[in-house]
Amino acid sequence: MIPVTHFQGRDVAVFGLGRTGLAAVRALEAGGARVRAWDDNPAARTAAEEAGIGLTNLDNHDWRSLTALVLSPGVPLRYPEPHRFVTRAEEMDIPVIGDMELLAIQLASLPEDQRPKLVGITGTNGKSTTTALIGHILNKAGRDVRVGGNIGIGVLDLAPPRSNAVYVLELSSYQLDLVESLKLDVAVLLNITPDHLDRHGSMANYTAAKMRIFNNQDVRATAIVGMDDLTTQSCAMTLRRQGRNVVPVATNMALGRGVSVVAGRLFDNRSGRTERLADLRNAVALHGRHNHQNAGAAYAACLALGVNPGQIIDALNSFPGLAHRMEYVGSAAGVRFINDSKATNATATEQALAAFRNVYWIAGGRPKSEGIDSLDPLLGNVRRAYLIGEAQEPFSEALTGKVPTLSCATLRRALAEAFNDAVQAGDPDPVVMLSPACASFDQFTDFEARGNAFRSLVEGVVREADLYTPA
Ligand code: ADP
Repeated sequence: MIPVTHFQGRDVAVFGLGRTGLAAVRALEAGGARVRAWDDNPAARTAAEEAGIGLTNLDNHDWRSLTALVLSPGVPLRYPEPHRFVTRAEEMDIPVIGDMELLAIQLASLPEDQRPKLVGITGTNGKSTTTALIGHILNKAGRDVRVGGNIGIGVLDLAPPRSNAVYVLELSSYQLDLVESLKLDVAVLLNITPDHLDRHGSMANYTAAKMRIFNNQDVRATAIVGMDDLTTQSCAMTLRRQGRNVVPVATNMALGRGVSVVAGRLFDNRSGRTERLADLRNAVALHGRHNHQNAGAAYAACLALGVNPGQIIDALNSFPGLAHRMEYVGSAAGVRFINDSKATNATATEQALAAFRNVYWIAGGRPKSEGIDSLDPLLGNVRRAYLIGEAQEPFSEALTGKVPTLSCATLRRALAEAFNDAVQAGDPDPVVMLSPACASFDQFTDFEARGNAFRSLVEGVVREADLYTPA
């Protein structure tokens, strides 16, 4: 845990007692603050009490003594409308911050030569993969590395700072909205496509939240920007105009200066001299162009931290990949099963559909407002779509006349139907893939529960298929 001592002897409210909220309470208490913890959800309050955390009903509390309101990133800050506590804090000039800001404040209190290095990663898609990949490379290079934030361990639950440690932090746009003074040595913005617009109000606000990752960076710091979409291209231009040290990363063109991945090969010509470094097709867990973007960004980030290129390339090849992201979970009767439950929006699913030819595609869940029309150019790879959850009707409408669909309601039925069709059709190298392009909350607690359910259903199908396979 990282104790936050800045608020010693003072009152701090923590609202939202999920994983990060609970960690914030513990870190503030360990640093000597008086914490006023609350959640609107009775179940979260009970869980907090069971974890030994004292509660204060913030609706009845006198806010005049509060020095800060620490908000969980899940609580609406501006849209669809600010949470009542955000409004109240703003009326009373109380800063509204998140757990990342607590880390930033704590690190700023250390003498400069004792501060660890900070790497932050954001983007609409690829954050977790790139964060884990950078962590993996730094580990292999023998660095003292701590990986957390929006992935795995909440940032304040990581090990305390040491001067030569590196924190690798996944940052969501919600978390970025709640930082002020966070100063990253290396900041990575992978891509920006429409997502979470209900929480940000507009594409411009969403982009502005993502751009906060570069706030406070000085000229020695590194800003790594994916160049595969127009929004991030314009972000890179803005940063260049500000005199920042920008390293562009592209996978759809060879850059004049920067890091490019062309036809699976990684090129570095930041200096203007082109060096061909590696064939990323050897990196088995980094399949697909989207993963080449992640690999290019991770390469640039680790290089900025002084890791040598040879070590980076070896580590790219040994990266084991993350669960629920185009994860191979088994095969039966020549059909491969792929779990891409983390694809909660159309852009993520786009990558998955582009990576395979004969896809029996399980999609659906709670649909996103952005829809799935952007997938039209890839539907040639889809043999049939098996629809589940609340998205059955809208997806079936969106796909009519483009690809055959079957409304299956549940994941269990969708898997059975998809497997059956894939076996019957006999196309080369068929894939049954869950890549929902939807949130999971209509039928599952989260994308992990959905992916785990898929994996265990697949295990059942594989076991049963084995029974009927001649020995
Ligand atoms: P995030 O943490 O941003 O949600 P993940 O690494 O967990 O990103 O990947 C989420 C989904 O997005 C997966 O389905 C994955 O296949 C896809 N994806 C991964 N990297 C990228 C990328 N750079 N661009 C687009 N999609 C990606």
